[in-house]
Amino acid sequence: MSDSATATAHKVTLIAGDGVGPEVASATKDILAAAGANIHWDEAVAGKEAFEGGIASGVPQDTIDSIDANRVALKGPLETPVGFGGKSANVTLRKLFEMYGNIRPCKELPNIGGPFAGRGIDLIVVRENVEDVYAGIEHMQSPGVAQCLKLISRKGCEKISRLSFELARSLGRKRVTCATKANIMKKTEGLLKSTFEDVAKEFPEFTSDHIIIDNACHQLVIRPETFDIIVSTNMNGDIVSDLTSGLVGGLGLAPSMNLGDQAVMFEAVHGSAPDIAGQDKVNPTALLLSSVMMLRHFGEFETADKIEHALYVTLEEGKALTGDIAQGRPAVGTKRFAEEIIANLGKRSDKLVDRDYTPINMPKVSSDLDFVKCSDRRDVGADVFIESGKMPDEVGKSLEQIAEGSNLQLKMISNRGTQVYPVAAAAFDGVDHHRCRFVMRDKSQAMTEADLLDLLQRVGQSWRWIHIERLPEYNGEPGYTKAQGED
Ligand code: NAP
Repeated sequence: MSDSATATAHKVTLIAGDGVGPEVASATKDILAAAGANIHWDEAVAGKEAFEGGIASGVPQDTIDSIDANRVALKGPLETPVGFGGKSANVTLRKLFEMYGNIRPCKELPNIGGPFAGRGIDLIVVRENVEDVYAGIEHMQSPGVAQCLKLISRKGCEKISRLSFELARSLGRKRVTCATKANIMKKTEGLLKSTFEDVAKEFPEFTSDHIIIDNACHQLVIRPETFDIIVSTNMNGDIVSDLTSGLVGGLGLAPSMNLGDQAVMFEAVHGSAPDIAGQDKVNPTALLLSSVMMLRHFGEFETADKIEHALYVTLEEGKALTGDIAQGRPAVGTKRFAEEIIANLGKRSDKLVDRDYTPINMPKVSSDLDFVKCSDRRDVGADVFIESGKMPDEVGKSLEQIAEGSNLQLKMISNRGTQVYPVAAAAFDGVDHHRCRFVMRDKSQAMTEADLLDLLQRVGQSWRWIHIERLPEYNGEPGYTKAQGED
């Protein structure tokens, strides 16, 4: 590269990754270079090599510094070693740079075949990327009962909802569908639904709707072509986007982008595919299409179009395809497939309808920690979780006695969400994890710190309490849900 080309090059942190990562990264780099993309690659390490070098996060400081400086990364898959190392290096990277929007397009490619071929699928899953159960806050509350906290914030919901509409605007899309499990998880999943509905009012030019996530999966395999943009919480989005990848030919074809205010990281949806690593068998299309998204992010629309057309022509010709998409035809290796795409640069496919792209207008959302302020709030009681192998009747009677003379009284006990005291469900097969709900005897009074501490002291003398939750009311609305069977 000449000095002037280097000076104007887009600087990108390249993490080739584990398993098949180096092969897909090498093919992608070759194709981008042949297409004339002016990129300066800053090669960095994360994943297996970092874990083996004793870095518990799987992400060395040099890599963090490189992304911090370049603000753009292209990443191959990273293995999460089983048995050593800590959290997933992928999740660490997304969280470190608060890349809260995971954008996963799913578009039918030519000549791929499969049960959904010809349906014209062209949708995008927008997955919230940093909250939900992926916050990874887990505890064994008793030797036999595990808990994972599902944290969903109004701020997170607002950012991802706004991003979905801004994405729709930037890509000329028409409909944004919010997919949640709000019918069951009314507070957490419900927060995305209600926030999305509020934000949607500011984007009246789009059709917006809500669908229960399980129905979304059902509809996706019945009439996938009717979806445009689907926005969802982290875990639902993770699952749904793998499903949608399968609709159009599999993980080898599915690109993605992780978007935040500080940095953006492009990566294939697939993992390190250790069964085919180092064998020149992997399909590099997913990372290549991720790099096409990256070029559009840079505003390099012409180069992006050139590569996408060459890929389409290669797929249409069908004479040099990797094994996962060859469908009985003789398969070629990763390198040969990349060479064929390079040979087709400059050709145009009439199957590829060019879209108008404009840069995404990143949502401006306040960075206040107390994002939602509430003028009128009070606690009406507390849930005290107790570990005990005793039956609910014995626990309940004891707790009623223990609370005598205090300002709080036992309202009910539930076991895994179902009321078991004072009235039990018809069938009981419980565990040693009891949620004991205490409320103020005088309902006109709010619970004070002294009330709560007095209760805990009393309970702690006879029972092992493992966890407490206040029962808040915000502007008169309960900030907690009822147990199954609770009146
Ligand atoms: P995977 O690596 O995605 O592979 C699953 C299977 O899909 C492969 O065995 C291969 O199947 C096929 N496949 C995936 N990508 C392909 C491609 N580009 N070309 C052709 N075939 C492809 O999933 P996994 O086996 O569950 O995960 C392996 C490791 O990757 C784990 O350590 C996991 O934690 C990690 N992972 C990382 C990321 C990431 O970095 N973003 C994402 C997911 C998983 P066949 O050869 O059998 O057809």
